[in-house]
Amino acid sequence: MKIPFATFIPMERELEPDLKEAFHRVFTRSHYIEGIEDQKFEKAFAAYCNMEFCVGTGNGLDALTLSLKALDIQKGDEVIVPSNTYIATALAVTYAGAVPVFVEPDIRTFNIDPSKIEEKITSATKAIMPVHLYGQPCDMEPVMEIAKKYRLYVIEDCAQAHGALYKEKKVGSFGDVAAFSFYPGKNLGALGDAGAVVTSHKKLADKIRALGNYGSDYKYHHIYQGCNSRLDEIQAAFLQVKLLHLDRMNTERKRIADRYLKEIHHSEIVLPYVFPETEPVWHIFGIRCKRRNELEEYLAKKGIKTNKHYPIPIHRQKCYEDLGIPEGRLPIAEEISETELSMPMYYGMTENEIQYVIDTVNYFK
Ligand SMILES: *Cc1c(COP(=O)(O)O)cnc(C)c1O
Repeated sequence: MKIPFATFIPMERELEPDLKEAFHRVFTRSHYIEGIEDQKFEKAFAAYCNMEFCVGTGNGLDALTLSLKALDIQKGDEVIVPSNTYIATALAVTYAGAVPVFVEPDIRTFNIDPSKIEEKITSATKAIMPVHLYGQPCDMEPVMEIAKKYRLYVIEDCAQAHGALYKEKKVGSFGDVAAFSFYPGKNLGALGDAGAVVTSHKKLADKIRALGNYGSDYKYHHIYQGCNSRLDEIQAAFLQVKLLHLDRMNTERKRIADRYLKEIHHSEIVLPYVFPETEPVWHIFGIRCKRRNELEEYLAKKGIKTNKHYPIPIHRQKCYEDLGIPEGRLPIAEEISETELSMPMYYGMTENEIQYVIDTVNYFK
């Protein structure tokens, strides 16, 4: 049996008529940037997140960067980020001119360990950026307490966690502002690049919108040296269609994850730990195994494609050599990069496919 790591086919077959209708609607109107589709999607997505405002952006990285810039985070400032995350989290901080300060994760959940944040706070610290990685909500209660105590902004990176719940509250509704990516492979994906921020602060929403629109608050009036990062009408129309199915599709991922959690039994494999009172959306189902590369090869031979998130931790990437963080300084992030393996996970995965993955993993010798 051949199992891809991920595929869009079952989802796209199902949504094809609605997506085509969305395309025709925009094409017939011949209006492609800043219009009614954008407004409709922003309204719907803000409501979905239980937030007042949503501002569409060109992608998730820009959503993060514009959030930091709107909060006046700049050169000389430090921002706390997890050591185990996708590189975009750190890039947003350095694009804003600030320094990313890495905090190690709780190895059980792969997410930032709140008990290790305070020791990294200095007089230059301006914000914390928790990342709800792999679709698992961070432990937000202690994060928010620390932020309050030290008066730090909280920017949630929700790029992998659309719809995840922490204590029955949606991720993205805890901090000052939250950034989402709608990269096609994300739980809520466009048919191209797209992103958004959500916030309940009107001034912040207005500033982010202006920053992403050439710094303009009114046509040909430029109050900031902004950039061009807007959500275009076609993607906003597609996203409206896909948002209607997000919860149902997340439930499907949960069904797959629950089977993996219950039925993968192997003495050398550690399954992800789910904090009680959270509902992850399983963007990625990451297991850990000391013989990860052997497991990967074995599964590949059996026709099962897997992936690694992420094989090189950020502080060991060439582009961040200047941070001068030596190997061994962030051992948990390094251990995850050496042991994590992501299992196949996609909407439309059949019972037979799930069973085959479980059985094959369990037979690993
Ligand atoms: C995908 C992702 C981003 C960036 O989103 P893009 O739309 O690809 O720019 C940021 N943070 C995390 C954790 C991501 O997974």
